Amino acid sequence: MNKTGIDEIKVQGRRVLVRVDFNVPMDDKQTITDDTRIRAALPTINYLVENRAKVILTSHLGRPKGKRNSKYSLAPVAVRLSELLGQEVQIAKDCVGKEVKAQIQTLKDSQVLLLENVRFYEEEEKNNPDFAKKLADLAEIYVNDAFGTAHRAHASTEGVAKYIPAYAGFLMKKEVDIMGKALENPARPFIAIIGGAKVSDKIAVIENLLKKVDILIIGGGMANTFLKAQGYEMGKSLVEDDKVALALEMLKMAQTAGVSLLLPSDVVVAKEFSANAPSRTIDITRLEADDLVLDIGPESAEKFAKEVLAAQTVIWNGPMGVFEMEAFARGTEKIAQAMAQCQGITIVGGGDSVAAVEKMGVAAKLTHISTGGGASLEFLEGKVLPGVAALKDK
Ligand code: ADP
Ligand code: MG
Repeated sequence: MNKTGIDEIKVQGRRVLVRVDFNVPMDDKQTITDDTRIRAALPTINYLVENRAKVILTSHLGRPKGKRNSKYSLAPVAVRLSELLGQEVQIAKDCVGKEVKAQIQTLKDSQVLLLENVRFYEEEEKNNPDFAKKLADLAEIYVNDAFGTAHRAHASTEGVAKYIPAYAGFLMKKEVDIMGKALENPARPFIAIIGGAKVSDKIAVIENLLKKVDILIIGGGMANTFLKAQGYEMGKSLVEDDKVALALEMLKMAQTAGVSLLLPSDVVVAKEFSANAPSRTIDITRLEADDLVLDIGPESAEKFAKEVLAAQTVIWNGPMGVFEMEAFARGTEKIAQAMAQCQGITIVGGGDSVAAVEKMGVAAKLTHISTGGGASLEFLEGKVLPGVAALKDK
């Protein structure tokens, strides 16, 4: 997987259609409450502006369900983007059609136009070929910089690439290069740390990683199901009883593959799922019938952190405990710190895990923070993402 980037093609004077992810949170008054996603697209947009392309941006916002709805207009995004770029960003009234085409005809080199919400058309999510062709007709080159929607085969993420040459924007390229290398040709030791609430969310991730890693660490709520499979009494902890057999199978798969699979040996428990509940740190053999496991214990955290420090490649997805509650955040914190200190390639994916490393202030010390929740999960599952597959290889 080696995609051609925008710095490897000629863009000067060309109409370039860029799929960005401007699906930003807004309040009732359509004020943007977090512009991280707009900022994330700046390197690609700035590059195209500096290299004198005619820049046409397309994105979705919210779920307008295929109908025009001013509540989901991208107009406020155009205003914010203008401020960030330091130049005017025009907003089109639509995303396809005659008027938009006419507006594009007037675009000069280095000017930027943001098309209206592409999900105002139901054809977008249906990946309707005629609609994709209409999008493609607006430009000579297509660039995808929206990794977060690359797992969806929509007209603006996949269909359009059938009609004009398609390249990876800087954000997209970074995701695919770093995660792709980790999965295909990792520096070793290669370890994965998987956590979060449920095994069922990440079965395919665990199965795929078992074929690739040297060490697999399992923590968080999902470790409970594995521990139960090993015969431990888990009290009132979150356990997926219908996944115990599968957990046992995965433990065997690990053994066959020569992967050491590490589980917590001590845990932090409480009698209720509450931030103020009194907690105890105990050995995994010591749970009482009414105990809930809410974090990994310090001994386990230390052991896991040691593996992280010795690794050349680390992929982390899923917190080690209920980190939203202060009393149960130590395990996640310890891993986050070890990731920050690790000299190898460090990658974090998953909405809550990314929130955790940001909250803990270590994000800047990691090699890569994957922006797409669902997309990075599917990537880790070893699936081909349609939006990535559509881009030109080198
Ligand atoms: P990500 O978004 O990083 O992929 P998940 O969504 O899979 O992560 O899981 C995150 C959630 O898992 C958090 O809200 C956290 O509180 C919860 N969690 C972690 N450990 C436990 C546990 N022992 N019991 C219950 N919930 C847990
Ligand atoms: Mg999550």
